[in-house]
Amino acid sequence: MCFQSVSDTIESYVQKAFYLFFFHILFLIFLWSYWQTVFTELVPIPDMFKVPAVEMEKLQQAQSEEAQSAILERLAQDLPVTNRTVRGAIRFCDKCQLIKPDRAHHCSVCRQCVLKMDHHCPWVNNCVAYHNYKFFMLFLMYALLYCVFIGATSLQYFIHFWKIWFGDQGELDGMGKFHLLFLFCVSLMFAVSLNSLFFYHCYLILHNRSTLEAFRPPMFRMGKDKDGFSIGKYNNFQEVFGDNGRLWCLPVFTRGGIPTACFSLGDGVIYPVRSQHQGGLNTYNSMGSTQNRSPLDDMSLVAEATILALGAGTAVLGPTVEANEPLVNQTETV
Ligand SMILES: [Zn+2]
Ligand SMILES: [Zn+2]
Repeated sequence: MCFQSVSDTIESYVQKAFYLFFFHILFLIFLWSYWQTVFTELVPIPDMFKVPAVEMEKLQQAQSEEAQSAILERLAQDLPVTNRTVRGAIRFCDKCQLIKPDRAHHCSVCRQCVLKMDHHCPWVNNCVAYHNYKFFMLFLMYALLYCVFIGATSLQYFIHFWKIWFGDQGELDGMGKFHLLFLFCVSLMFAVSLNSLFFYHCYLILHNRSTLEAFRPPMFRMGKDKDGFSIGKYNNFQEVFGDNGRLWCLPVFTRGGIPTACFSLGDGVIYPVRSQHQGGLNTYNSMGSTQNRSPLDDMSLVAEATILALGAGTAVLGPTVEANEPLVNQTETV
């Protein structure tokens, strides 16, 4: 339709070539990003978070919430989890029978727990999460640019159409004029809705929050903290888009040479958190002091410190929950 409209309406060959070239470049990269968002498969939760059958039996047979909580605390003491339920207990998914990694939530559509879940998107028939968040952002960006390009290049013909319609000069010849009218209206309509979604997610990336965390701040041992995962705007951006600037605008795996599960920096399980949430690990002193550090370096430090602490037989995440502390919410789902 666009090709027909261009052929019918534009007389200059240079202008035709320019419009068609950039139209198809944007269209192809938009389709590529969409494809990657839709067809990139979820990264499974590592086995270390699964609750063994024998422990599940103990959980089900536990007589009180205190007993269940104590079992989960014992199971989680060797796991790198800092998030808690609103009642301060270890987060547990009874459907998947696992301890939820930080930022993971259960998706009732995908029927499994999803690492760094943002939301389940019906437009892409997939969860938007750790495994495809960069692709989703590029999909929004290129879809927006695509609509803006179409709107901008058809604007003068849209105005021309109405001048002819209301005036006596010229004639409306052929269906090409109506195609342009349709193109302009549809591109404008999609550009407006994509614009708000894209810039909202830009805001979330710079503050290192998922959509779920924007509505319900993550809980830590010290309480809820909406900026608990924020490590400075540039580092937050790199955590999603990777540390190779040449690949930021392409919907490809972010880090060459690293296992293909690394769609963004990190492994989707361990996230740098502010120092007060680390239970003794003093990797971050403040958000400001991390501005010039690579998130990967910092994540390695957290992971390294975790391993060292575990090797020394120490509970990384601080003391065990007291017997009278609130219980795990076994029905917590999204
Ligand atoms: Zn689950
Ligand atoms: Zn889902």
